[in-house]
Amino acid sequence: MTTTEPKEWILDEENELRIEIDFEVKVKLRLVTGTAEVFGTELGQNVDYEFSGRKIAVFTWHGCKLQVQGTCSVEYIANETPMISYLNTHLALEQRRVLATQSNGKGPRVLIVGPNDVGKTSLSKMLLSYALRQSRQPIYVDLDCSEGSITMPGCLTATPLTEMIDVEEGFGSSATSAPTAGSAVMPLAYYYGFPSPKDNSKLYNLLLARLAQSVNRRLEEDEAARTSGIVIDTNGLIDATGYELIANCIQAFSVDVIIVLGHERLYSDMTRLHQKSGVSVIKLAKSGGVVERDSAFRRQTQKQKIREYFYGTSKSELAPYSTMVNYHDVEVLRVGEGSLAPSSALPIGEDRKVSETHVVKVEPGEHLLHSVLAVSNADKLVESEILETNLAGFVYISEVHDIRKKITVLSPCPGRIPKKFWWLGSLKWAED
Ligand code: ADP
Repeated sequence: MTTTEPKEWILDEENELRIEIDFEVKVKLRLVTGTAEVFGTELGQNVDYEFSGRKIAVFTWHGCKLQVQGTCSVEYIANETPMISYLNTHLALEQRRVLATQSNGKGPRVLIVGPNDVGKTSLSKMLLSYALRQSRQPIYVDLDCSEGSITMPGCLTATPLTEMIDVEEGFGSSATSAPTAGSAVMPLAYYYGFPSPKDNSKLYNLLLARLAQSVNRRLEEDEAARTSGIVIDTNGLIDATGYELIANCIQAFSVDVIIVLGHERLYSDMTRLHQKSGVSVIKLAKSGGVVERDSAFRRQTQKQKIREYFYGTSKSELAPYSTMVNYHDVEVLRVGEGSLAPSSALPIGEDRKVSETHVVKVEPGEHLLHSVLAVSNADKLVESEILETNLAGFVYISEVHDIRKKITVLSPCPGRIPKKFWWLGSLKWAED
C-alpha cells in the first residue's frame, strides 16, 4: 500500500475525473466536498472507496473536490461528456414509469445496443441507478455472455434490483456472492457457456426466450418491478446474427425503447426495422471516456470476477468451502460442441443445428482441473428440460485425484454439494 500524499482534484460542475487502475495496484478515492457519482451511484462524503483493475469516471453535476491515493495508469479531467443526454433519457423513462404507476401499466422495457466498448454496461448502470434513486425497482437483464456483470461470464441473467448498485463492486456486490449465502438479491441465471452468442445461436436463443419468460412472469407478479420496467444490456454483436438476436429480444421482452449507443448505421437500421411496430428508438453518443478493453484486460477482469465469486472482495470477504466429491456423485455435462457429429454422419434431413442443443455427458478426469463449472438446479436429467433449468451457483475444481476417482471442489456454500448436474463450459481459472 502506497504511503504517498493523496492527489487532490477540483472538478467544476458537469465535469468528470476519468481514472484507470491496473490490476496489481489499489487506489483509494474520496469525495471531500460537493457531490459526485460513479456510473450513477452517489459517493458518500469522506468515505474511502478502493479500486483495482477498473476504468471509471467520477462525475459531478454541481462541482466537487476529490482525493485519489495510489497510482493510476491514466487520470484526467474531462469537461465534455454526454451525461446531460443520459440524464434526459432517464427523465423520459421516468415519465413512462409515472404513467405506468397511474394506469397500473408497464414501465419501460429498454434495450441497449451498440458495438463493443461504447459504454453499454456503464449506461445500463446509470439508468438503473437513477431509477433506484427515485425508489424504483427495475430489473437488470444481462445478455452479454462474454462479460458476466452479475455472476460469471457465460451466463444470461436477470436481477431484480432493490438496493443501490455498489460503487466499488458494481452489480457484483449483491449478486456474485453465493446465492445461498443469504444475499439479498438473487439473480436468475441460465448457463450458456460460450463467449459469443454466435458460438451456439440456437442455444442462446432458447435461453433468451426462457429468461424472458421468467422475467415476464416476475413483472406480472411484482407491481413495483412492473411499473419500474427493465434495462437489457447486450453484447456488441451488430452483424446479421446480432440483428436477429436483437429482433428476438425485442419480441421476447416486449421491448418498447431501444437505445443505440455510438453507431449511426445501427441507429438508422433499428429505426427502419423496429420503429414501425411502436418501439421508440433513441440515439445516444458514446462517452469520450469509454475505454477499449483488449483481450488481456478482459481475461484479467474475468479472473477477478471468478476470484470474487469464491473469495469475495476486500470489503466483504468470503471463505469458500473445499469439499471432496466422488466422480460418481456428479454428472458433468456440456452442450453441443464436442459432440458434433460431422454433417455427413447425421441422419438425412437432420442438420447440424440438432446437435447444438444436444446434452453430452463428460467423463470426469484430469481435464477438469481449474475449471469453473455451473451447478444446475435440475434434479434429473431430461435433455429438453435441463438446458432451460436455472443455476444454483458455481464450483471450482481445485484438485483431481484420478486414481481415487475423486475431485476437490471449492464452493461458496458449506456442506455437501447439493446438486448433481454440473455444466462444463470454457471457463478456466488457476488460483494465484
Ligand atoms: P460496453 O458495455 O459497450 O462494452 P462498458 O460500459 O463496459 O462498454 O465500458 C468499457 C470500459 O470503459 C469499462 O471498463 C468502463 O468502466 C469504462 N468506461 C465507461 N465509461 C467511462 C468514462 N466515462 N470514463 C472512464 N471509463 C469509462
